[in-house]
Amino acid sequence: MRLTSWTFTAVASAVIALAATLDDVCTVSYVQAALPSNDFYNGITIDPSSVSANPVYNASVSGQNFFPDATFDYCNVSFAYTHNGRDDQVLVWYWLPAPENFQNRFLATGGGGLAITSGSGSLPGGVIYGAVAGTTDGGFGSFSTNSDAVFLLANGTVNWESVFMFGYQGIHEMSALGKELTLNFYNVTSKLYAYYQGCSEGGREGWSQVQRFADEWDGAAVGAPAFRFSFQQVQHLYSDVVEQTLGYYPPPCELELIVNETIAFCDPLDGKTDGVVARTDLCKLKFDIKSVIGKPYYCAASTSSAGPPGSAAVSLPEQNGTVTAKGVEVASTIIDGLHDLQGRRVYISYQPAATFGDAQTAWNNETQSWELDVSGIGAEWVTRYLDLQNTSSLANLDNVTYDTLKEWTYQGWQTYEDTLETTWPDLTPFNEAGGKVLHFHGESDNSIPTASSVRYWDSVRKIMYPQKSFTDSAAALNEWYKLFLIPGAAHCGPNSLQPNGPFPQTTLQVLIDWVEKGMEPVTLNGTVLQGENVGQSQQICGWPLRPLWKSEDQVNPDCVYDQSSIDTWIYDFDAFKMPVY
Ligand code: CA
Repeated sequence: MRLTSWTFTAVASAVIALAATLDDVCTVSYVQAALPSNDFYNGITIDPSSVSANPVYNASVSGQNFFPDATFDYCNVSFAYTHNGRDDQVLVWYWLPAPENFQNRFLATGGGGLAITSGSGSLPGGVIYGAVAGTTDGGFGSFSTNSDAVFLLANGTVNWESVFMFGYQGIHEMSALGKELTLNFYNVTSKLYAYYQGCSEGGREGWSQVQRFADEWDGAAVGAPAFRFSFQQVQHLYSDVVEQTLGYYPPPCELELIVNETIAFCDPLDGKTDGVVARTDLCKLKFDIKSVIGKPYYCAASTSSAGPPGSAAVSLPEQNGTVTAKGVEVASTIIDGLHDLQGRRVYISYQPAATFGDAQTAWNNETQSWELDVSGIGAEWVTRYLDLQNTSSLANLDNVTYDTLKEWTYQGWQTYEDTLETTWPDLTPFNEAGGKVLHFHGESDNSIPTASSVRYWDSVRKIMYPQKSFTDSAAALNEWYKLFLIPGAAHCGPNSLQPNGPFPQTTLQVLIDWVEKGMEPVTLNGTVLQGENVGQSQQICGWPLRPLWKSEDQVNPDCVYDQSSIDTWIYDFDAFKMPVY
């Protein structure tokens, strides 16, 4: 006989009322009793026999970018559900804090790259704040199966359900089921606060919910989102096409020197010579990259075995030369961003002082020369997501021009506008529900252009406050959606080339304090995670204000309004007639 969920809940309440321990509640039968009922989410049926639950004591995490070191106990829970009529299976995974540490919170988490989940990697970030933390496999088969592995049913045939789940539905279901599980598991009678934390693809997943589901979360901490998805994927190919178009494939060491010289020149422009370029906008305005031409570079021969076990080591020769005019032209064209063959802007690029990750060339031992190394994620976008072929690589970019990149961008934009693009700019329902967003982006991100986040913040500002001036609309938006550019930070992490910069490791705590205590952050707390000042707290300015230090010993910057700097972040995408949000 199957007991009703009401009966289960009553049993659960009785257990909790006796000051339950983790051992008491972290059992399969108790979790089965706390599962959402089958009429909770229309179209979803949970399989109670799939429940696993085991207590874990004294788990510890350290050295993480998105949460501080901690030791904690939790109940490790997973179960499966199906979409009625589809005969599929989706796995969800939750870590539930020990009852005495639960603080009426739920945290949804996401993935990175083409993964919808970070596995258990992001879950401690919730548990240490007394939140149940959840993740989903999206129905892709396992927590280590990426979305691209299930994207095609056959060449030419898209598994649209997988795109829908990856685009937004998977996170939504995991979040809804997880919140209901949390209410039942702890017998919550007061408000359950719900949050999100994720970066990169996980950042896009965060926005996918904020744009659609007003009541899902009270707050979202979103880093460097991989939104404007088609633009973003094609951007990874832009550096390669620059090299091909200009007919020059720079040795990695040459580009490294250009980056190091950029950092050296631009570091002091922010008022503090600390190895961190906190003002890449001033760098754009004041640094003449041509000044690097002729400077010598040297990198010793090296062998790396970065690939999977058993893969061949990559040997790079000694690199000894001087920076060429062609090398500088490649670098400056990359920084300028993609324009079509008529000179109209298609997209934006990385800020100066970011490394040239997409521009990496490969050494050909036979020809003894550097050659094109096509970006993996950019190539897969074209072959799999546009051409619908079950392959991840492009042999070459023969006949690919800047116009080709524009066409690929437009094609993907249209094809995935409703699933992956994730730039819907009207956030009125979320705002009216009282939602808060802390959005951050490393200013030296080499994978997702920092200006991509500025573009979206500005699109939301213009769409939601069309009658207000820039400063008034910025102030109105900043009451509930704040953007922070992280000085020197790389893609979703600190930057080894600018080690003294802060990283926003405690953003979820800041968000919780804002949502639950009304402590509105003016600046975002950052922590130095490497180098000689490790552990130091540094405040990060909120956009559109920009950091400026008055003296070398000032830790926290002044946050100033600088119109000419702001203007360097604003772009007109005149290659398209459609608005680009
Ligand atoms: Ca500096």
